[in-house]
Amino acid sequence: MTITLPAHDVGHAAAILQDGGLVAMPTETVYGLAADAYNGEAIAKVFTAKGRPADDPLIVHVTRGLCGSDLWDGLVHLGVIAQDVPPAQSATARVLLEALAPGPITLVLPRGVRMSDRITAGLPDVAVRFPAHHVAIALIDQVGGPLVAPSANRFGRISPTTAAAVSAELDERIDAILDGGPCGIGVESTVARVEPDGTITILRPGAVGADSLSIGGEVRLAPRDGGSGGSPGRLASHYAPRAPLALVEPVSAWSEARVADLIGRVGIGHWTHVAWTGDALATARSLQARTGLSPDVHVLSPDGRSASGARQLYAVLRAADDTGPALVTLERPPADDALGQALRDRVERAAHGTAPLAE
Ligand code: AMP
Ligand code: MG
Repeated sequence: MTITLPAHDVGHAAAILQDGGLVAMPTETVYGLAADAYNGEAIAKVFTAKGRPADDPLIVHVTRGLCGSDLWDGLVHLGVIAQDVPPAQSATARVLLEALAPGPITLVLPRGVRMSDRITAGLPDVAVRFPAHHVAIALIDQVGGPLVAPSANRFGRISPTTAAAVSAELDERIDAILDGGPCGIGVESTVARVEPDGTITILRPGAVGADSLSIGGEVRLAPRDGGSGGSPGRLASHYAPRAPLALVEPVSAWSEARVADLIGRVGIGHWTHVAWTGDALATARSLQARTGLSPDVHVLSPDGRSASGARQLYAVLRAADDTGPALVTLERPPADDALGQALRDRVERAAHGTAPLAE
């Protein structure tokens, strides 16, 4: 049975984790499925519960409390990262840790003695993050050691940003869900590898962008899909709803060919349109006028800010999916800041494998 615990019941959740169980915990990005990072059997259960392939490594979550005043030395002491690394690499990592932890940034660094092949998928590096959510921090501190915590969804599916969404994904597969309310950011952390020469490679875009990372060294973006410079587990198709999802331009820019193609694709089924901004009712009227169909309309970011869009994205995709539409159309978000780029990345992956509509 999966129990839902209120946020103040951190003690109960910590006891479950110390016993080798699985607990979904709130973080500022999305809910994570936590297990004791030092317990191989508990980690194996994470892969089973999610249906996650063993070659997709996990992020290790720690706190300033666990590490003490010097974060780098603390991580070495916990056996999370390696002791002997090139000076340029540790110098960059130290700067980034002091400036950006806790926060929505995951650093990939040479792995320490206590990090198993299960966690890192056999790689020489480990991904480490300091979550900025008070419930996650309290939980890790109470357990007294690092926790692995991939997103608390079935593999390849939409990440959960509420306790109810975790329950929809993993009910009966995990021991408990610690309910900390909706996540403030709504998309997964930036993943950045600190290279031996002290430069930084962004493996997954998130709320922390290249500008913030550049305080540590030169920043580059990894090639989009795989390749030696990429990250394992960065699948082209991910974060996906069950319904076919097509990325589109704003309604006002649709050509007649696009409208005709869309009508053909929806057929007699149900259609959901996710607008980037504006008014849902006005958009619904305009869609009806142009197509003769009556889609459900959701608005991702009423105020047009990427932070609002990120906070809503997964809840809206989940709500759209729940009505079993024949097609979901989603307006491409603007990518003019770090979160906007992260949103673009997630919606493109969510839409991957769906044939594009006529341009
Ligand atoms: P999540 O499901 O949000 O926890 O995603 C974890 C992701 O972090 C993985 O799918 C990888 O893309 C990335 N990651 C974790 N560990 C490593 C690592 N050792 N090297 C490179 N990327 C990693
Ligand atoms: Mg995930």
